Amino acid sequence: MIWVFGLSPGTLKWYKISQLSFKGFWLLWLLGGIILGLPMDSAFSATGRIPGFSSYYLDSGVAGNTILIVGGIQGDEPGGFNAASLIVTHYKILSGAVRVVPNLNFPSIIKRSRGLHGDLNRKFDALNPGDPEFNTIQRIKKMILAPQVDLVLNLHDGSGFYSKIHEDKNRHPGRWGQSIIVDQEQMPDQLAEKRGPFSQLIDAAGKSADFVNTSLLNPGHKFHVKNTRTGQGDLEMAKSLTYFALKNNKSAFGIEASKSLSTAKRVYYHLLALEAFFDQAGIRFNRRFSLTEADIKRAMDQGIELALGTNRILLTVENVRKRLRFIPLEKEGPLAFQVNHPLMTLVQNGDGYTLFHGNRRLTRLSPQYFDYDFSLRTMEMVVDGESRNVSFGTSVPVKHRFLVKNIPDHRVNIIGFSKKTKGNESVKNESGFVVRKVNFAQRFSIDKGGHIFRIEVYRANKFNGMILVDFRPDRKALSNRPNGPNQSDEINLASNL
Ligand SMILES: [Zn+2]
Repeated sequence: MIWVFGLSPGTLKWYKISQLSFKGFWLLWLLGGIILGLPMDSAFSATGRIPGFSSYYLDSGVAGNTILIVGGIQGDEPGGFNAASLIVTHYKILSGAVRVVPNLNFPSIIKRSRGLHGDLNRKFDALNPGDPEFNTIQRIKKMILAPQVDLVLNLHDGSGFYSKIHEDKNRHPGRWGQSIIVDQEQMPDQLAEKRGPFSQLIDAAGKSADFVNTSLLNPGHKFHVKNTRTGQGDLEMAKSLTYFALKNNKSAFGIEASKSLSTAKRVYYHLLALEAFFDQAGIRFNRRFSLTEADIKRAMDQGIELALGTNRILLTVENVRKRLRFIPLEKEGPLAFQVNHPLMTLVQNGDGYTLFHGNRRLTRLSPQYFDYDFSLRTMEMVVDGESRNVSFGTSVPVKHRFLVKNIPDHRVNIIGFSKKTKGNESVKNESGFVVRKVNFAQRFSIDKGGHIFRIEVYRANKFNGMILVDFRPDRKALSNRPNGPNQSDEINLASNL
């Protein structure tokens, strides 16, 4: 399987993303072991080009309804776009199909802005072709109109708590949070039988709200159905995604979690609502974590990784330090990178790079530039008593100790480890030493936990590659963890439809 990721149509390029061999992360085989990537030059450059949205097709291969989920239409609503991303990374669809756009307004997500070019959810009626988001709108409209799509769900984080009556200033009919939104009570008559379970919009919304209300974290979080009666003169909502869908005979709902809640709690309610719609649509699924705030938080960052340097460098960035220094990047050419999460991207920032996960800054990389020497691909290690040939750009789990075998004419630099000669000078080449976790100065780890360290290999002044040694103890597995790699877990991804 090839996972292909494309950029905005103006710079349309198809990237066949090479397969990286990661060991020890089940997320990767969940993702089919394939990484998505954005070449730096066309992602954020001096000309202002920015990453377009990505789309993911989770097709069970079993006949059934198809739901399109859209997250991140407004960049400051992390509950929605993190929930949509978790559907991509941690759900397996067993019947029917789910298409996910987790990051519709990716540039605004990164900038923590509702909309860098105005409100994207008011651009679905008439739109000037000169609008900077015209192509984004054309692409998502095409996805909505795809004949396979039966139902469209647009995920939002809304203000306060919607209530049919005025209770207080945060809880009244003008608020949006904790509601399922419909534009009108039902779909146009002629389509009723074709749309099956979703033609009676208000009934379907009510069923989903009822389902959410069986699992409230707090009675004050109760979900309601909000009917905007868009067709009766709501000129603003008439420009929205859901109304565009409805006018084109696609049943559509907004799901609003409250901005008064933490991101993890918003994600919790979004996922409950999504699962309620899956259920109504007859879409069966597996979720690879339990619906608790703690598991949601962990799943959001689980196994996230960044690959750089022509796959000579892998950084595991779950719980990464705020800053990583002296990253040996190649002197020549644009920076290419790969990430394994739909909300991650790398943005040039002065003479460094900032790695984003949605609207969070995970880390800042300070590069040091080298010529690369590609003649060496692997190195020999002894890990916990076992000899291993290890490829650059991978991570090696270590329980107790490791040793890097000598590589003639090459220098091994174990970052954070130092050995003195009898004359009290630092040893330049750190191959041949047995190294344990206690031998490292903790501040050199790439993770805040002090468990993951870099080993770099150089020939003269040229960089050959890096591997990571990962001393993390076996972490508590998330619930419903699958039993092992399974090719059928692959997801099909297409972009730029
Ligand atoms: Zn919104």
